[in-house]
Amino acid sequence: MTGNKSPQEARNDGERLFHLLMENVKDFAIFMLDPEGRIVSWNAGAQRILGYEEPEIIGQPFETIFVPEDIQRKRPEYELQTARDSGRAEDERWHLRKDGSRLWASGVVTPLLDERGNLRGFAKILRDITERKRTEEQLTEANQRKDEFLAMLAHELRNPLAPIQNVVQIFKLEATGKKHIQEATAMVERSLGRIVRIVDDLLDVSRITKGKIELRKERLPLQTAVQQAIESVQALIASRKHELSVLMPPEEVWLEADPVRIDQIITNLLTNAAKYTEPGGKIWLNVERLGNDCVLTVKDNGIGISREMLPRIFELFVQVDHSLDRAQGGLGIGLTLAKRLVELHGGVLEAFSGGVGEGSEFVVRMRVVPEYSGRKPEDVDTYQSKTEKCLRILIVDDNVDTARSLAMLLRSSGHQVTTEYTGPEGLRAALSEKPDVILMDIGLPGMDGCQVAQRIREHPELAGIQLIAISGYGQESDKRQSEQAGFNHHLVKPVDPVKLEALLAK
Ligand code: ADP
Repeated sequence: MTGNKSPQEARNDGERLFHLLMENVKDFAIFMLDPEGRIVSWNAGAQRILGYEEPEIIGQPFETIFVPEDIQRKRPEYELQTARDSGRAEDERWHLRKDGSRLWASGVVTPLLDERGNLRGFAKILRDITERKRTEEQLTEANQRKDEFLAMLAHELRNPLAPIQNVVQIFKLEATGKKHIQEATAMVERSLGRIVRIVDDLLDVSRITKGKIELRKERLPLQTAVQQAIESVQALIASRKHELSVLMPPEEVWLEADPVRIDQIITNLLTNAAKYTEPGGKIWLNVERLGNDCVLTVKDNGIGISREMLPRIFELFVQVDHSLDRAQGGLGIGLTLAKRLVELHGGVLEAFSGGVGEGSEFVVRMRVVPEYSGRKPEDVDTYQSKTEKCLRILIVDDNVDTARSLAMLLRSSGHQVTTEYTGPEGLRAALSEKPDVILMDIGLPGMDGCQVAQRIREHPELAGIQLIAISGYGQESDKRQSEQAGFNHHLVKPVDPVKLEALLAK
């Protein structure tokens, strides 16, 4: 009966193989502990990974390979306890080599029980994944740097756009009767509008990633928001010869929402529907009220979205078509932004598509304000070229172009305007000129806007001056700060000339 081994012989073979295993496996550290947690066996992998030779580590406590912080937090005891209680203990943590260096390892401890269920010891298997950990950390760091770069880029691009926007407004006012100047200005305005939109989207994305977007909620009828969004994409829809059908409930649907953001959400979805549908296509926009929710659907019969892409479509910078000659441009930010903005309003945004060529459907679901019957919002203001009142205005801004272009714009509306570019100069001009209104940047050289405002408020004879802060930051804390300094109003950069004129008219 050659080949048939007695149980004893088989056991001996097994033991020999076990020794070979301990001597040969080098990719994993494998070692055993007695029930008290002292090391009783040590394989070649453990020697390679942790640096101790077998004779010097045998009999040493489990703690030996732990970092001091973990020993202090009693992690070694805790690990053995968990293994004893739940049958295993798995973790990823820093460990200490013999030479004092650290390695990031993933490991598992298994309790070794005999046939009667008595604890005879523990087996620990551990793998060095320091490289992976380092790569992950580098990726996270690179990602953070990228986010910071984008935020900075958007910020740096946004500042010089403000004077250009102001100058375009001036050209528009001056162009009356000159057809070719009117056309040229309209062209600049359209292109500028596209750049501003992209830069603003970038700014918003970085604000959202930092949790820095604050909603300015008010009660607004969804129908009005939809109407405004349609108006702003009308030109694109017309240029692509799409047919847009709109279906809205007869009674007003009221939301407690930020009108600017709601407009952004709807405009984004409509723009995409127009962009990703071949010319002459169809777009449907439906608003429905379902109990306490309203459901807004933007549907198209365009290029559709494949099943693989559909779940990823809301991720930042994800685009189905990456070729640079993509007809429609864009950065892959719009949907990320739309989804996050809907979520900030407590709603959900979902995408559906039957696949490539089958059209797409985007569905926004949000809470309504039940049974609310309030006033209708006022009509949107348009820039008034001549105001009723002529005001004496002082602009203090260290960006000379921004200050000057805003001054030109306000002068063309009939105001008397002077400009200063530092805090101390601004204060001097305020004291000597006693203007009706001061538009003041917060970040100023020499003395910041808040300090200047405080100094102005120390003079009772200047109490009548309306102080308007112009700041890059619009969070509640920033507004509170400027109010405490004595400002009457707080505007966020870039200042919208229409809103500013409306404020001045008051
Ligand atoms: P962008 O339009 O700037 O590329 P978005 O974040 O708005 O970025 O959209 C991301 C991607 O989702 C688009 O590049 C496009 O591939 C796809 N997409 C968005 N809307 C639609 C739609 N209505 N039909 C088909 N694909 C769409």
